[in-house]
Amino acid sequence: GPPLPKPDRTRVLVVANQKGGVGKTTTSVNLAAALAACGARVLVIDLDPQGNASTALGVEHHRGIPSIYESVVDGEPLAEFVHPVPGFPTLFAVPATIDLAGAELELASVVARESRLKGVLNTYLAETTEAGQRFDYVLIDCPPSLGLLTINALVAGEEVLVPIQCEYYALEGVGALIQTVDLVRSQLNPGLDTTTVLLTMFDARTRLSAQVAENAREFLGDKVLKTAIPRSVRISEAPSFGQTVMTWDPTSSGALSYLEAARELATQPPRSRSASALSSSQ
Ligand code: ADP
Ligand code: MG
Repeated sequence: GPPLPKPDRTRVLVVANQKGGVGKTTTSVNLAAALAACGARVLVIDLDPQGNASTALGVEHHRGIPSIYESVVDGEPLAEFVHPVPGFPTLFAVPATIDLAGAELELASVVARESRLKGVLNTYLAETTEAGQRFDYVLIDCPPSLGLLTINALVAGEEVLVPIQCEYYALEGVGALIQTVDLVRSQLNPGLDTTTVLLTMFDARTRLSAQVAENAREFLGDKVLKTAIPRSVRISEAPSFGQTVMTWDPTSSGALSYLEAARELATQPPRSRSASALSSSQ
């Protein structure tokens, strides 16, 4: 697509929702690919032991291969685990393996356990910027819980992007997520805000989807992107080919909707990225 405006500094987006199956991974990889397809330099960090984002990006993640685990738990430099994503010259990914499943427990007894990811990520971002290869976006794909891994992401990032599945009980749990974000902001990361909400698996034929969209806009206001991601077979089948929908079927409605969402994200007024944050009182 046509080039997007570059952010004035690296935007670190935490893709979080403690519900499983709402489209976190699908959004992380496809939004990242869409941004990269428009020329942005993008890093995806897979922070889910399931490694679904790694699969979708065609990056190996079988047990025992070097992964985000070694960086977050052992403090090894993130640079060692960054892989290029096939088909995208400006897209990179750090894989997760099932080894990460133990991290939640192992981190519990480690010094500064909430800031492990922040430490290695900031060092890496400083190095790449220094080398004239600054990242425009980092997307962190969180596991479906509000445990220590997600907390690490919330401490490392500045913006929280919440995918909401257009299904029954869609907004259930979003309050708890926003409270967690507020807590992390007040205790650990004053710059953190819930800035963006993306409606996923939208089905224009159903009243339910329209209703969820309406409720989301009512409760979450203009954080909700205008673009909703349609339910699409092309989107759901792409990972089984180790691809994002951007390469699997670049002209499909799914690919076009992620491109549109990427454009909206890239053109968000900076104000909505800081001043008018969501809070649990809303
Ligand atoms: P999460 O990471 O939140 O657990 P996923 O991104 O893995 O959720 O999505 C859950 C399931 O829904 C996956 O099988 C995925 O392929 C499917 N899915 C996600 N978004 C779409 C969509 N827009 N259209 C069709 N299927 C989708
Ligand atoms: Mg996932």
